[in-house]
Amino acid sequence: MSKFQKGHAHYPRSEAGKLAMREKMSGDKNPAKRPEVRKKISEKRKGNNGRLGIPHSEETKRKMSAAHKGKKKEWAGKFITEEGRKRISESKMGSKNSNWKGGITSLDFQIRNSARYRHWRWNIFKRDNFTCQECGSRSRPGKAVYLEGHHTPKSFSKIVQEYSIKTLEHAFFCKELWDINNGKTLCNQCHSLTKYGRPNN
Ligand SMILES: [Zn+2]
Repeated sequence: MSKFQKGHAHYPRSEAGKLAMREKMSGDKNPAKRPEVRKKISEKRKGNNGRLGIPHSEETKRKMSAAHKGKKKEWAGKFITEEGRKRISESKMGSKNSNWKGGITSLDFQIRNSARYRHWRWNIFKRDNFTCQECGSRSRPGKAVYLEGHHTPKSFSKIVQEYSIKTLEHAFFCKELWDINNGKTLCNQCHSLTKYGRPNN
C-alpha cells in the first residue's frame, strides 16, 4: 500500500488538485459557511475543546495568580535579553566574524528548499528517467540510492557566485539556475564525488 493515503494530512496534492480545492473551498462555496454544516461543526466541538473561548471568572483568575506567585518561571533566562543581544552584536559573531559569507549558507538552503528548486529537480529527474547519469543507478525503495539534481556544466555555487545572487528573489530571476539543460540527475554517491575535486562534467 502506498505511504500516502487520501485524506492523510501529507497526501501530496498536485498543483491542479490544490487549485481545484482552493476553488471549492473559497468564498461562499466553503462548506463551513453553510448553516447546517456550521451547526454540525459546533455540535462536534462541544465538550471537545476544554475551556477554549470561555473566560475564567474573576475569582478563578485571583486564585490562579496567587498560585503562581513566587514561582520561578520555567522559561526564565531562555530568551535573549537586550543586554545579551548587545553583547552578541559587539562580539565577533555573525557578520563581524571573518568566516561570515554574507549569509550564503542560509541562501543556499533557501534556494535548494524552494518550490522552484524542487520543480527544477523533478523536471531533470523525469527527463533522465530517474536514473543516475553517471553510474546508471535508479532510485528504488529499500535501496540506499537517492537521486539529486546537479548543476552542470556550471555548478550551483558557481552560478550563485557569477550572478552575485544575494537573495531568493534574485535567484528566481536567474534563468541559468532554472534551465533544465543546466542540470542532470546524479545518485547521492556520484553527486558527492563531484563535490570533491573531480572534474565537473
Ligand atoms: Zn551514480
